[in-house]
Amino acid sequence: MSDRRALLRTLPSIDRLLSTPLLTELEQTQPHILIRAAAQNTVEDLRRQILDDQAALPDLDLNAVATLIAARVVQMAKPSLRKVINVTGTLLHTNLGRAPLCKEALQAIKDVAQGYSNLEYDLDEGKRGKRFTHVEELICKLTGGEAATVVNNNAGAVMLALAALAGGRSALVSRGELIEIGGSFRIPDIMAASGVDLVEVGTTNKTHLKDYAGAIDDKTALILKVHTSNYRILGFTEAVAGEKLAELAHQHDIPVLEDLGSGLLMDLTSFGLPREPTVRETLKTGIDLVTFSGDKLLGGPQAGIIVGNRDVIDKVRKHPIARALRIDKLTLAALEATLRQYLDPQKALDKIPVLRMLSLPVAELQQRCEALLPRLTEVIGNAADAIIIEATATVGGGALPLAELPGRVIALAPKDMSLNELTTRLRSCEPAVVGRIQDDKFLIDPRTLSSDDEVFLLQALQQVFSLERCL
Ligand SMILES: *Cc1c(COP(=O)(O)O)cnc(C)c1O
Repeated sequence: MSDRRALLRTLPSIDRLLSTPLLTELEQTQPHILIRAAAQNTVEDLRRQILDDQAALPDLDLNAVATLIAARVVQMAKPSLRKVINVTGTLLHTNLGRAPLCKEALQAIKDVAQGYSNLEYDLDEGKRGKRFTHVEELICKLTGGEAATVVNNNAGAVMLALAALAGGRSALVSRGELIEIGGSFRIPDIMAASGVDLVEVGTTNKTHLKDYAGAIDDKTALILKVHTSNYRILGFTEAVAGEKLAELAHQHDIPVLEDLGSGLLMDLTSFGLPREPTVRETLKTGIDLVTFSGDKLLGGPQAGIIVGNRDVIDKVRKHPIARALRIDKLTLAALEATLRQYLDPQKALDKIPVLRMLSLPVAELQQRCEALLPRLTEVIGNAADAIIIEATATVGGGALPLAELPGRVIALAPKDMSLNELTTRLRSCEPAVVGRIQDDKFLIDPRTLSSDDEVFLLQALQQVFSLERCL
């Protein structure tokens, strides 16, 4: 131990390290502050390694340490938020940023971001305008609503609508709909945060119209219906249809709000998805206000869309929380461009990545696998077995949890590497590759892999299997 302590004195000083040719050269391209931080962190790591009896003694040669520092600078200089190749087959992976945007949305962001825009400026009148007007008409056309507004995300939309319509009073919710989504969106908590008293009605599996009717009193300001996006109760269940709920609410002069979660603008049953009411169908039942996400099955940017009756929407817009949750101009540009595609449903299916991936036929996935397999074998050689197998993809993002999309994937079984090591190495590549493990194989699902990104996948696999460290 004392020998090891003595070694500490031979650790090069930060100043000596910073004046090595390697690091002075690096100053040309990297900020001094990063290089200094990397040097301090590296020396600190070496110090710890020396003092750890169990660890091998590090190389303390000046140039060897400078090389470690330079490698660290490269890591530190990488953007933190960066591109990832998703081969999991989960279309709307919340951890991977949900929906990829269509080209039209990307162009719209660029056009608006590069300079100034008419975000809140009415070009016809030459005076102040309102930002939601850029999408209101489109949303109404696509859903049959009278009026619409948009906020930062759907959790925000629900919170705002609750606060505006029932703040300081109470709202009825079926016990079967008191859901949690993604760990942080919990209906009882959102209601409390909106200043609305939650009145639970019915039971977990069955809620009848009379349960709602019996709970209405002079404090009741709203009936809330929540789409149970991420779970199902099977067996003897009962929920009250929108029409009945709307009729009851309107007899008492209160509105009904439905949080639809994903919010479909078109029917997707022809692609093997379970039947879900579209936003238009939901509004037709007489429900006053519907909220849904921009980045779930809609396939656009993160946003919360609120659509319904004009007087209810007016109240929502006037609430102070509306300002706090206002949508940003880049999101608005992407949302408008995405919504525009829906004016022609065929165009939407072709152009919006989520819809395109969702509607890919098995035969096309088989072809993608067949075309990819020889290219893949070329880069990995015989370091792994690779075969095409059947596998199902999922929608993800808390939407349609039970839907399974039949498809084909390439299953990789490395010979001299654990699957854990394979996934760790793939994650350290640039761009990182994220996939899934099933039955002791690493699956590559072409459904979520755009053709443009195939080259990145192959490059990562080549690096991983040629045992190079991906830096
Ligand atoms: C996803 C979801 C939300 C949250 O929407 P975000 O856009 O993620 O804020 C709220 N309610 C339901 C029913 C959902 O499915």
